[in-house]
Amino acid sequence: MDYTKAKQRIEQLKAILWENSRKYYVDNAPTMSDYEYDQLMHELEALEADFPEYATPDSPTRRVGSDLEERESGFAKYPHKYPMLSLGNTYSIQEVEEFAQRASKAIDRPFTYCCELKFDGTAICLTYRHGKLLRALTRGDGVKGDDVTENARHIPSIPKELKGYGYPDEFEIRGEILMPYESFDRLNREREIQEEPLFANPRNAASGSLKLQDPQEVGRRGLICTLYHIPTGQVDYPTHDDALKAAAGWGLPVSDKRAICHNIEEIEEFIGHWDSARKELPYPTDGIVIKINEMAIQQELGFTAKSPRWAVAFKYKAEQACTPVLSIDYQVGRTGAVTPVANLEPVFLSGTMVKRATLVNEDQMRMLDLHEGDWVYVEKGGEIIPKITSVEESKRSPGAQIPIFPTVCPDCGTPLIRAKGEAKWFCPNAKGCPTQIKGRMEHFVSRKAMNILCGEATIDQLYSLHLASKPSDLYSLHQIQLMSLEGWKEKASRRFLDSVNASRQVPFERVLFALGIRFVGETTARDIARHFGNIDAVKEATREQLLTVPEVGEVIADSVLAFFKDADNLTEVEALKAAGLRMSTEASSAPVAGPLADKVIVISGNFSISRDEMKALIEANGGRNSGSVSGKTDYLLAGSKPGPEKIKKAGELGISIIDEAQFRELIGTHEASSSPSPLQAIDPEPTLF
Ligand code: NAD
Repeated sequence: MDYTKAKQRIEQLKAILWENSRKYYVDNAPTMSDYEYDQLMHELEALEADFPEYATPDSPTRRVGSDLEERESGFAKYPHKYPMLSLGNTYSIQEVEEFAQRASKAIDRPFTYCCELKFDGTAICLTYRHGKLLRALTRGDGVKGDDVTENARHIPSIPKELKGYGYPDEFEIRGEILMPYESFDRLNREREIQEEPLFANPRNAASGSLKLQDPQEVGRRGLICTLYHIPTGQVDYPTHDDALKAAAGWGLPVSDKRAICHNIEEIEEFIGHWDSARKELPYPTDGIVIKINEMAIQQELGFTAKSPRWAVAFKYKAEQACTPVLSIDYQVGRTGAVTPVANLEPVFLSGTMVKRATLVNEDQMRMLDLHEGDWVYVEKGGEIIPKITSVEESKRSPGAQIPIFPTVCPDCGTPLIRAKGEAKWFCPNAKGCPTQIKGRMEHFVSRKAMNILCGEATIDQLYSLHLASKPSDLYSLHQIQLMSLEGWKEKASRRFLDSVNASRQVPFERVLFALGIRFVGETTARDIARHFGNIDAVKEATREQLLTVPEVGEVIADSVLAFFKDADNLTEVEALKAAGLRMSTEASSAPVAGPLADKVIVISGNFSISRDEMKALIEANGGRNSGSVSGKTDYLLAGSKPGPEKIKKAGELGISIIDEAQFRELIGTHEASSSPSPLQAIDPEPTLF
C-alpha cells in the first residue's frame, strides 16, 4: 500500500472506530458486531505499525473507549487513582500461545497464569475506606470516570461494609457490573410492552442501567457485581490469586471460576472447557482472561498506553448460523407500528434454538437485499437477540422474489401509512385494530404502569370473549365470571382481582403513564402529572401550558392534546375515574409556598444527606429540582465534589453557586455540612490496569 492510500485508510478506520465506540459505550446501542469492530481495530494497528508516521496519540489503538458523554451526564467525574485500561484481545489460540511464549522469554524464573472468565458487562472501580464503600466510578475514559456511588449502593452484591479483617485502610478493587440473562429478558419484555427500544444485549443493558439517574430503578434492574482485580501496590500478596482470595474473605463478590495454569496446554484446556460450560452460566461472558499470576512479575512487565502487558483476553467469536427464511410475519405493536419478523428454519445458536429474528423495518429488508426463501446469517448480538446480519446470495433460488411489504394492516386490513421521517409503517386504525387494542391493555397492566397480574394470554382471552376491550373493563370483572373461564381457578381469579383492586392505589403519575399517550413515557407522565396536579387540568391544558412542563416539547404537547381531543379517550378517562383510580397527585409541582417558591435548583455533588433527601428538602421548601443548568436555573447547589461541567456552565451563565450551609440559611435550617472541599480530587498516581 502506498503512503497516500495508507493515510486515507488510517483516517477512515479511525473515524469508523470512534463513531462505533461512541455508539457502544455512550449510546449503549452498537450497530456493528464486536468481531467486526475488533477486525477493523487490528487492521488499524497493523497499518500504524507499517506507517508509524501516521499513528497519532488520539488513535483508538492507543486510548480506551470512553463511556463519558459529551453533554452533561448528571454524574460528578473523578480521576482514577490508577488508570483503568483495556485488555489486549484476540480471537485466536495461536496469539494466546504467542503471548505465553513472549512471557516465557521475558521472565527468567518460574511463574504461573491465573485464568479467569471474561465477564461481559461494564467495568466498575470500587473504593473502600475503613471497610466502608466510599465511591464507585465507571471506567469513563480510563483517566476519569463517572461517580455512580449512589447507584452502586443499590446493587445488592456490592457490600456497603466489609467483613473480616486485614483489608487496607483504603483501597480500590475493580470488576464488572453484569446483568444476568433473566433480568435482561424481564427488562426487555417490559420495554417491548412499553414500546421502548430494546437493549441489544445484557452488556448494553448493564451499562445503560448503571448510568440511570434513579438509584431505586438501578436496584430494580437485577444487576450483579463480580470483582477481579486489586491494582498492584495496595495489598501485599505474592500473587493475584492470593489477593482475590483475601478479597473474597472480606465479603467482596469474587468469582471462584478461575484456575491456576502452568503452561499453554492448561490454558487451552481452560479455554476449551469454558467454551461450552459458560453457556450454562446465568450471566454473560465473552471470553477468558489470562493473567500472569505473580504480582512482582506484573509490576516488572508494566503496561502499554492501553492495556497491561501481563494479561491478554481470548474472546469467543459470536456464533453465527446460516438458515433459510421460511416466511415473514408483519407484527403490529400497540401504537400501530408494523415490524417484519422472519420465521427461520430452527437452528441451534449459542445454547438456544433460534426460530425467529427481527428484520426491523422495510428499509432494513431492502438493505439486506432479502429475497423470499433466502438463506440468511443469524447472529446473536451479545448472544441474546437473534439478528439477521447478511444474506447468502449463492444459495438463492433462481427467480426468488423480493418480499412485498404489506400495504394493509395484517390484522385489521386498514391501509398502512408511513409518515415523513418515520422508519416504520403504521396501521392508523387505533380504535378497531385488535392487536393495538390488546397492546394498549398490556401496557396498562404492565408493572411500571398499573401493575395488574395479567399476561398477554389473559388479555387475549378476556378480549376474545368480549369481557374486556379497554382498560376500564378490567374494573367490572367478577370472580364468578372469571372462574367460569377456561384455565381459571379460584386462587388465580382472586389474585388477579386483588391486583386490580390494589391498582386503585397506584399514584396518578403512573395512571397517566398507563393511559398510553404516545411519546409520554414514565418520566414525562410524572412531570406532567406533578405540574398539573390532576387529570382535569391535564385535559384542559393548552399547548402553551404543556410546553412549560420541563422536557415537554412540541411533539409530546401535540400528542397529549390529540389524546384528550378524542371523545373515546375522554369517555375512557371518565370510566377509569369512576372505577376509583387516582386522578390527582399530592406531589404537585405547582409552586409550594416556602422560602424557595418558584426557584429552580440544580444539585451536584454529595451532601450531609442523600441526594434524594436533598431533592425532597428543596421541594418541601417550594423549590423545583432540575437535572441540568440552564438560563432558567436560579441556584446551583454544590455539595462536595460537584460536576465540573455544571460549575463551569453556572459560571458562564452567571448563576449563583451556593453550598449546603448557604442553602440551609436560605431555608432557615442551620445544620452546617461537614462536607470536604468541593473540588478536592484523589491524587492521581501512574500505574496499572
Ligand atoms: P474488552 O471488553 O475487550 O476487555 C477489557 C475489559 O474486560 C476490561 O475493561 C474489563 O471491564 C473486562 N473484564 C471482564 N472480565 C475481566 C477479568 N476477569 N479481568 C479483567 N478484565 C475483565 O475491552 P474494552 O476496552 O472494554 O472494550 C473493547 C471491546 O469492546 C472491543 O474489543 C470490542 O469487542 C468491543 N467494542 C465493540 C464495539 C461495537 O461497535 N460492537 C465498539 C466498541 C467496542
